[in-house]
Amino acid sequence: MLDVCLLGCGGMMPLPYRWLTSLMTRFNGSSLLIDCGEGTQIAIKEKGWSFKPIDVICFTHYHGDHISGLPGLLLTMGNADRREPLTLIGPKGLVKVVNSLRIIAPELPFEIQCIEIEGAEQTFELDGYRLKAFRVNHNVLCYGYSLEIDRAGKFDVNRAEANGIPKQYWKVLQKGECVELNGNLYTPDMVLGAPRKGIKLTYTTDTRPTDSIRNNAEGSDLFICEGMYGEKEKAAKAVEYKHMTFTEAAVLAKEANVRQMWLTHYSPSLTKPEEYMDDVRAIFPNAKAGKDCMSVELDFPES
Ligand SMILES: [Zn+2]
Ligand SMILES: [Zn+2]
Repeated sequence: MLDVCLLGCGGMMPLPYRWLTSLMTRFNGSSLLIDCGEGTQIAIKEKGWSFKPIDVICFTHYHGDHISGLPGLLLTMGNADRREPLTLIGPKGLVKVVNSLRIIAPELPFEIQCIEIEGAEQTFELDGYRLKAFRVNHNVLCYGYSLEIDRAGKFDVNRAEANGIPKQYWKVLQKGECVELNGNLYTPDMVLGAPRKGIKLTYTTDTRPTDSIRNNAEGSDLFICEGMYGEKEKAAKAVEYKHMTFTEAAVLAKEANVRQMWLTHYSPSLTKPEEYMDDVRAIFPNAKAGKDCMSVELDFPES
């Protein structure tokens, strides 16, 4: 099960009633954060989730509304007694940006490992899941992220017997481990049926619609996408500043065959996103206007 929380849904600046866009997930005791603008740690506190298990922080790009909350969060994680290393992932320039911000948070009780994304796409194998960064189209180098949890096939007794696997190793193989016996290597696929549908989450903000989003969001259980402007007359502004309108996000959700879409990263001038949702739902019905601390538990579908 993957816990997902959209900590904030604002773009550009935090407002008294709206935190900056940031996403937090929890899986198998490990938390991941994508983007960390000013005030993100207050949103985490408001949600009641813990700082200590944050093992990875990813950045879409280095505009202040997506990273300026980092030094404060690092200090808070230090105060929460974190000792394990922390991984930061982001576009090229990450080391320079992080080192600059750390001038005001120099002493931390944990190590920081920075990974700069290379090329148009890069996949990271994390603790039990896969994170893929894919380049999008903003006015600075910017990436979206897809998080996928695979699900192995069901145990297949006929297959295990046909492969001549001794019974005492069935359980171990079913758990995903390999067994070597008298020079024979037994692998989990020898006792399992075809892989089943897993869980997929895609998050992308600060971008025009792109093929990379369409391709990488394909089949997501939840697609969290920027909607900077709800008003139709702001379509030209969206093009100029390399953002998206609500309806552009809806078209992407439809084209990528996602199950559900949440909008986020609203312009500060957009005070009532709900007013524009009818137009969105006319294109893609299962859409929600994101709200601070909106969360969901994504589970494997019933087989
Ligand atoms: Zn932004
Ligand atoms: Zn931006």
